[in-house]
Amino acid sequence: MGPIGSHIAHIGVELTDSPYVAASMRVMTRMGRPVIEALGSDGKFVPCVHSVGSPLTAGQRDVPWPCNREHKYIVHFPETREIWSYGSGYGGNALLGKKCFALRIASVMGRDEGWLAEHMLILGVTSPQGEKTYVTAAFPSACGKTNFAMLIPPKGFEGWKVTTVGDDIAWIKPQPDGRFYAINPESGYFGVAPGTSYESNPNAMEMLKQNVIFTNVALTDDGDVWWEGMTREAPAHLVDWQGRSWTPDCGRKAAHPNSRFTVAATQCPSLDPEWDNPNGVPISAFIFGGRRSDTMPLVVEATSWADGVYKAATMGSETTAAATGAVGEVRRDPFAMLPFCGYHIGDYFQHWLALGASVSQPPKIFDVNWFRTDENGKFAWPGFGQNMRVLKWIVDRCQGRAHAVETALGMQPEYGDLEWRGLDFSCGRFEQVMEFKRDSWQRELAAHDRLLAKLGAKQPSALVDLRRGLGAKLGG
Ligand code: GDP
Ligand code: MN
Repeated sequence: MGPIGSHIAHIGVELTDSPYVAASMRVMTRMGRPVIEALGSDGKFVPCVHSVGSPLTAGQRDVPWPCNREHKYIVHFPETREIWSYGSGYGGNALLGKKCFALRIASVMGRDEGWLAEHMLILGVTSPQGEKTYVTAAFPSACGKTNFAMLIPPKGFEGWKVTTVGDDIAWIKPQPDGRFYAINPESGYFGVAPGTSYESNPNAMEMLKQNVIFTNVALTDDGDVWWEGMTREAPAHLVDWQGRSWTPDCGRKAAHPNSRFTVAATQCPSLDPEWDNPNGVPISAFIFGGRRSDTMPLVVEATSWADGVYKAATMGSETTAAATGAVGEVRRDPFAMLPFCGYHIGDYFQHWLALGASVSQPPKIFDVNWFRTDENGKFAWPGFGQNMRVLKWIVDRCQGRAHAVETALGMQPEYGDLEWRGLDFSCGRFEQVMEFKRDSWQRELAAHDRLLAKLGAKQPSALVDLRRGLGAKLGG
């Protein structure tokens, strides 16, 4: 996991009974002889075993149910750093290098060894003058990591470039120069297909032209693939993800809402030239953001490292149709790590607080929210490529040249602080996506209290103090 030979990388070995998993892991990880050779130096690896748990014998595999219907056990042993997975063929449960190793087990390794394993994309921003800045961003699943990692600067940003190091996971280590350096432990993308189109993510569409494993998408009559949102109009006839004949009026989705593409990073047109650098890339900002139709402004910069940890720890996101449960309900998802942190989340907050205090040049921390809605329930911020306007302000803040004003939440840009060339977005609309109201923040702070209360004796005192400070400013 990570550039071979990198001091930030670690090795895993997965045994599986699934050809699908073996083929996918060839795309998602560096595997084979060079890894065995790198392993020779200290012999340390994380052992992982996977079985689809199919009760079928080889001769019965035409039955369309490739895993165990009743029993699924996805089990992690942080003390011995092992993973045992039974009964599921789903990526997150079966491609064990991904969430199981690179987040759950690696977060424990990071706690013990003084580094971070995070649910973050890594991207580089190059200015027209050639200045390069790397940032990471942690958004919960289905909140735009892959899209942001492959952002194409919009009209008005001629000469700017955004390049992709990773779209899902970052391993981050402090270095003697006082900075954090990040690698992408993966070598491919396991992305959600529905919604991916030339309009939303042209880089992704370009990289999906060949050498791709598609899972649970629909098939066109001429042997191509299709999913909801790929084109404005659906084809007249398809074979759906379950192998049934499909027409636009049949009332079913053609592709599974969680259908996926698996593709090598090297096919990404925006791949960063340093993506395979064993030393990683130096990080200037950590960005956090969930899906919030109100309450959270478009962007706010934390006033200190601890304030940034507070913002990330109390992050919330509204549930989407893809997740189970009620739609539109705000769930706390600290650091977008709720399903992935391998140890007590209170200790994890403490680890973040301590690690930031241990380096001389900690990155700045920002909160963003691309998902504010207007009075008609429509997205109030255009999002996607237009997020470049916010990203540029973040980069400029890191480089010490952008203006901000201090509000109750932190440092925020005024209308004139963002680049608006190429987009017709009025000051009034900007104020709409930036505002935060006392009454919604009183509800928000009550939710923070419930989260902090759950930590019991593991509440970091720095976060409790910051909560009190917010209450004093916002009333609550
Ligand atoms: P990931 O699971 O975090 O990698 O998220 P994706 O990048 O796959 O995006 C998840 C969903 O959010 C897709 O339906 C995207 O079209 C949508 N999305 C991504 N970025 C934006 C944005 O800036 N604005 C809006 N409104 N939707 C977005
Ligand atoms: Mn993604």
